[in-house]
Amino acid sequence: MNICIYTVITYSFSGFLRMKKIIHCDCDCFFAAVEMRDKPEYKNIPLAIGGRADRRGVIATCNYPARQFGVRSAMATAHALKLCPSLTVIPGEMEKYRNVSAQIMQIYREVTECIEPLSLDEAYLDVSGSNLYKGSATRIAQMLRSRVLQETGITISAGVAPNKFLAKVASDWNKPDGLCVITPDQVESFVENLPVRKLHGVGSKTAEKLQSMGVDTCGDLKTLALSQLTENFGRFGQRLYELSRGVDDRDVVTHRVRKSISVEHTFAADLLSLDECLSHIPELYRELQQRFSRYQDERSIQGLFVKLKFSDFTQTTIEHRTMDHNVLFFSDLMTRGYKRGNKPVRLLGLGFRLKDLPLTEPLLQGPFLPGPLLQGAMLQNGMLQSGMLQSAMLKAPRLKGFPLKNTFYKNKESEGFQQLSFWY
Ligand SMILES: [Mg+2]
Repeated sequence: MNICIYTVITYSFSGFLRMKKIIHCDCDCFFAAVEMRDKPEYKNIPLAIGGRADRRGVIATCNYPARQFGVRSAMATAHALKLCPSLTVIPGEMEKYRNVSAQIMQIYREVTECIEPLSLDEAYLDVSGSNLYKGSATRIAQMLRSRVLQETGITISAGVAPNKFLAKVASDWNKPDGLCVITPDQVESFVENLPVRKLHGVGSKTAEKLQSMGVDTCGDLKTLALSQLTENFGRFGQRLYELSRGVDDRDVVTHRVRKSISVEHTFAADLLSLDECLSHIPELYRELQQRFSRYQDERSIQGLFVKLKFSDFTQTTIEHRTMDHNVLFFSDLMTRGYKRGNKPVRLLGLGFRLKDLPLTEPLLQGPFLPGPLLQGAMLQNGMLQSGMLQSAMLKAPRLKGFPLKNTFYKNKESEGFQQLSFWY
């Protein structure tokens, strides 16, 4: 038994240092799939879950028959109905979707603790440390797909790759109900022909700009020098340089630190003037403060932002770095944002950007337990990563089963990681 545990730990440790195995799981048209599962009469008709057209609702999810008409999520319901007059739009039941989601995440959790949910229906799994099926991420993904279908009646598409970026592209590749595996030796050829539009962070504007530079695929992108990319795209240029080479070092982050708090409101009728927009600030600001009150003991504000979505669905966000906040600051930001579009507004949002958690204090609270000193646990973004915990445990077998949360203290920082010393 001991040997078995030791093997698991060794795998994780080497996985952390060498090749990662990431699975991106994505349910196919999740909300619609749940509804079709529960009501067979929805199965073969165009179906969408969304807000009502007469209340300016938008589509949250639609099934594949609806997609054939061009209906997409985030589209105004009114527009979706124009594209597909026979579309059945239902309000949906979030509670039900949350329950199915929890059931699915539980199945993932049996494979690894290292899970980063992106939404109710999407998650990254780091299975580098798993020795299931002799560590074959492909077979793990196949098993997850069939178990989720068996136990919840929902199909998922999975992408398997050495990093998050490629795993996500892969899960989309054979959608719906598909599996796509990119092995490390396939990365180069896969990325070569990948359209730049598929890269995370490349929206239509960036894609257009790249196209004007003669870039359609990552292969084209690779021919550009790093300096050329940073000149044209600032910090994102560096990222483009890496992505076009299939490089993505991001870890699967199991706990996300909240970076902002915001409130927003979609209006039943467009706001037609700046004054009308400004008149809604006091009420939104009150709501924002109320929402922030839950966090204010632990977190402090480092900036404000205002978001405006215009009647044509374009949107803009204006920020200001400050620790102070009042109605005037928000009014100023809103005025600047409104001028960027100068057209009717359908949605207003106010928000606070939050400072990172203080790193000089104990990262996890608890009584201080003096004892022999050990080094090696690593935190990222202030959070313990499971692979890292295992690597530390490898060095400290006696820690197994010990309440580790009581023993971690920050020591020094390098390249975004904090190396920890801990006592046991
Ligand atoms: Mg999905």
